Amino acid sequence: MKVLILGSGGREHALAWKAAQSPRVDQVYVAPGNAGTALEPRVANVAIAADDTAALVTFARHERIDLTIVGPETPLVIGVTDAFEAAGLRCFGPRRLAARLEGSKAFTKDFLSRHRIPTAAYATFTQANFDAAWVRAQRAPLVVKADGLAAGKGVIICETTDEAVSAAQAMFSGQFGAAGNTVVIEEFLRGEEASFIAVVSGEHILPLATSQDHKRRDDGDRGPNTGGMGAYSPAPVVTDEIHRRVMREVMQPTVRGLIADGTPYVGFLYAGLMIAPDGTPNVLEFNCRFGDPETQPIMMRLKSDLVDLFEHGINGTLDRIDAEWDRRVALGVVVAAAGYPGDPRRGDVISGLDQASDECKVFHAATSIADGKVVTSGGRVLCVTALGDNVRHAQRNAYAAVALIHFDGMQYRTDIGHHALVARRG
Ligand code: AMP
Repeated sequence: MKVLILGSGGREHALAWKAAQSPRVDQVYVAPGNAGTALEPRVANVAIAADDTAALVTFARHERIDLTIVGPETPLVIGVTDAFEAAGLRCFGPRRLAARLEGSKAFTKDFLSRHRIPTAAYATFTQANFDAAWVRAQRAPLVVKADGLAAGKGVIICETTDEAVSAAQAMFSGQFGAAGNTVVIEEFLRGEEASFIAVVSGEHILPLATSQDHKRRDDGDRGPNTGGMGAYSPAPVVTDEIHRRVMREVMQPTVRGLIADGTPYVGFLYAGLMIAPDGTPNVLEFNCRFGDPETQPIMMRLKSDLVDLFEHGINGTLDRIDAEWDRRVALGVVVAAAGYPGDPRRGDVISGLDQASDECKVFHAATSIADGKVVTSGGRVLCVTALGDNVRHAQRNAYAAVALIHFDGMQYRTDIGHHALVARRG
């Protein structure tokens, strides 16, 4: 069969690499892909942007693609799944109305409160009905969020209520474009952050292996927020007890709520959670796709056929299968370009990529091929991912591979996995 993957990051390289291992798959296409997907056996790039829905449908029809998997959120939020289905094509990912769970924070907060799913207390404003006096009467800190997609930058934690008023006004005046026309202001929650990622199909939920990412750019969780500087799986923060509570208090009411609202969900569903000291799993956000970089270590550990998982998801038979996981730990270190997360340097030649082993895989993200050489083409360049018998071994293997890679200005954290090591000692 032929599989098409939409997107160009490390997540898409990992999905393409894993899909190509399925004995049922003859060819994987990635639109638009990167240098890593271009060089992968049985994988080829297609020069179509991941959000050019009309061109993607034309390509999928012409090539008789059997299954399309959507990596990033933007195509989902603009309705790529709806367009594929209307053309009689099978596409794994939520339809436009279900993808609002990521596309609109105001929609999600209303959904959560309507279905009594734990989340921070909140209020929603537009410029027209903004009530600065109400905001000043709240207890700080407050969290101000742009409603729409803002590439992970639309959340501002404010230490004072005055800061919250200014943050909301900056959003109304166009700081994040139309994404900031509506603003959610919510209570600041304390606790431990965790993510929970599942394959969902209607009422069926197949949780994937647990994972934890590292959002800050620098060691010790310092420096600016990023798309993610590394991840590992499994993550000890999600204990069996928390797992049970998340299923019962978040995932099950969410998928049932979506069905009751007439927008049943098929796809990856990623809940960003703040686990309160009493164990309550508060929802901070939903993502309607797999995480990047969490996908990379999770795919290293997946022993089951990835394409089977998607097919059961689309066919509504997810309850008939289970996913099988490698017992080892997988850990991925993101190697970023100079300047990231601001304006990254581009065009630097990357060396040291031709290392192959059963335990380590270099997933590409912002890379392209120029004059036969692999060069950097954006902020997060690579995710070097390795397996090991425990976190320390996986860490050692991943950093040994990173040490062989070079490009000018490369930066990476040296402490990916430190939470797990602390948890083990504690
Ligand atoms: P979000 O995109 O909504 O997940 O927010 C990005 C990050 O902001 C989260 O990963 C948290 O670290 C932080 N955050 C968001 N909402 C809250 C909240 N209500 N209380 C505390 N931290 C928050």
